[in-house]
Amino acid sequence: MDAELVLDGLTKRFGPVAAVDGVSLEVAPGEFVCVLGPSGCGKTTLLRLIAGFEAPTAGAIYYRGAPVHHLPPQERNFGIVFQSYALFPHMTVWDNVAFGLRVRRLPAVTVRARVAEMLALVGLEHAARLYPSQLSGGMQQRVALARALAVQPRVLLLDEPLSALDAKIRVRLRAEIRRIQRELGVTVLYVTHDQEEALSIADRLVVMWQGRVQQVGPPLEVYTRPATPFVADFVGTTNLLRAEVGEDGGVRWGDVLLEVAGPLLPAGPVLLAVRPERLRLVDGAAASQRNCVTGRVEAWTFFGPYVRLHVSANGELLAVDVPQEVLADAGLQRHAPVTVHVPREAVLVFPARP
Ligand code: ATP
Repeated sequence: MDAELVLDGLTKRFGPVAAVDGVSLEVAPGEFVCVLGPSGCGKTTLLRLIAGFEAPTAGAIYYRGAPVHHLPPQERNFGIVFQSYALFPHMTVWDNVAFGLRVRRLPAVTVRARVAEMLALVGLEHAARLYPSQLSGGMQQRVALARALAVQPRVLLLDEPLSALDAKIRVRLRAEIRRIQRELGVTVLYVTHDQEEALSIADRLVVMWQGRVQQVGPPLEVYTRPATPFVADFVGTTNLLRAEVGEDGGVRWGDVLLEVAGPLLPAGPVLLAVRPERLRLVDGAAASQRNCVTGRVEAWTFFGPYVRLHVSANGELLAVDVPQEVLADAGLQRHAPVTVHVPREAVLVFPARP
């Protein structure tokens, strides 16, 4: 399939800072791509380059094969939704959504039909005559979405559109954005620092760090097979453990010889990545068995359906997720000794960076 949007070695420097550093990416028509990364990694700059608010220092942007990086924003016809809803406060909801259509001098009858359709799409038919100040944050963001979609953009760019909203609304609205995107078949690039949001909404994730792409892939792949310790740590929670591959090929984590699956690295220091939900508490009698480590519960965090135990073992603090019943049934005490089993398939091995 031909790509809808292509980024080719896109770079943006602000003085000595490479905010975006050689980013290449192909986005398929109708695809929902999330750009995910910590604050300052260059996500917003990447989106602003695509929208046309910034000029690239190097690289190119193509829409359906034609270069667009030299065009002003209005000629690219990409829809944009920001974190701040940026609605016109003196205009009603109806007029806000109609704005882009009127600027394009579409016939009144077309404007009326399109605005009505967009308001129905975001469930705000009843709010057409209200002003932004009379709406909740979630409603305002729905209006911003309707306004961006009304002009039938070639690509929809969303920059942290839900981060100003409370948790429940965020979850509801992101499901709605996904539904609308599927219904219209519009191509979406969605910037967020919220890994849960990205995992739940995207067809593909682009994980960025320090201006560079760390990994591109479907959420499940990025989560289960992170390309680097940074991705393992940023997407979900991971125990990163310093270990050593011996001359005999054995992986030694402190006193424990760990069996791991997958290809072995050459002898030397390594980082092991293990998700908390892959670790298991086992009976103390199993302590001498393979891939078991004994430790002490230092603290725990209650997350509702599960509890995250913080277990000191081998000089590190391990996060171990257990069902909440374990806390009640076992009457677990702080400083209680526990035995943790590390399944061999759960361990990812990365070369340790100096
Ligand atoms: P956040 O989630 O905090 O918005 P981000 O991942 O979107 O972060 P950017 O806003 O793209 O990151 O910033 C990337 C880097 O570029 C940062 O180091 C930032 O300070 C720098 N930067 C961004 N815009 C400018 C600018 N106009 N002038 C100078 N430096 C900038």
